[in-house]
Amino acid sequence: MDSMDAKPTGDAAGRGAAAASQPAPARTVVVPAEVAEAIRRHAAEAYPNECCGALFGTEAVLTAMLPLPNVTNEGPRRRFLVLPDDYRAADVHAREAGTDLAGFYHSHPDHPARPSRYDLDHAWPFFIYVIVSVQQGEPRDMTSWRLRDDRTAFDADVLDIRSEKADRWLTRS
Ligand SMILES: [Zn+2]
Repeated sequence: MDSMDAKPTGDAAGRGAAAASQPAPARTVVVPAEVAEAIRRHAAEAYPNECCGALFGTEAVLTAMLPLPNVTNEGPRRRFLVLPDDYRAADVHAREAGTDLAGFYHSHPDHPARPSRYDLDHAWPFFIYVIVSVQQGEPRDMTSWRLRDDRTAFDADVLDIRSEKADRWLTRS
């Protein structure tokens, strides 16, 4: 069960833990203020349940969001899970809108905006995972994460929430 924890590194002095577990350098994800607001609103509406949704754009600039229904066998309250149908719907939406599926967001009702063990076990590589904390119904911290290559942890991104129109920065590259 928990065999990956609690293994003493033993005598290999200094060679130490696998290099694979080094944190990736933080990357910046630019988010339009209206997209950040829409995520916060969805999170507040779903409270005390978790909400989840899809994020579109690139790995550096998110330009749109799409709320998804949050349904799991264990009920909506605690478990964030994107079902294959949701994934397909998000992908179709992306193609119709001429953009790419870049990641997913979900809320943590009355919990900090940090990924849980469950989030880690259910994350896909390459996607951006935005988490918003909702305390007593009020949306608070918003954070962004990426699965590390060896899938042992998430690394935090820097969220850069901007009020200008998204096309202003998209044309720059
Ligand atoms: Zn979570």
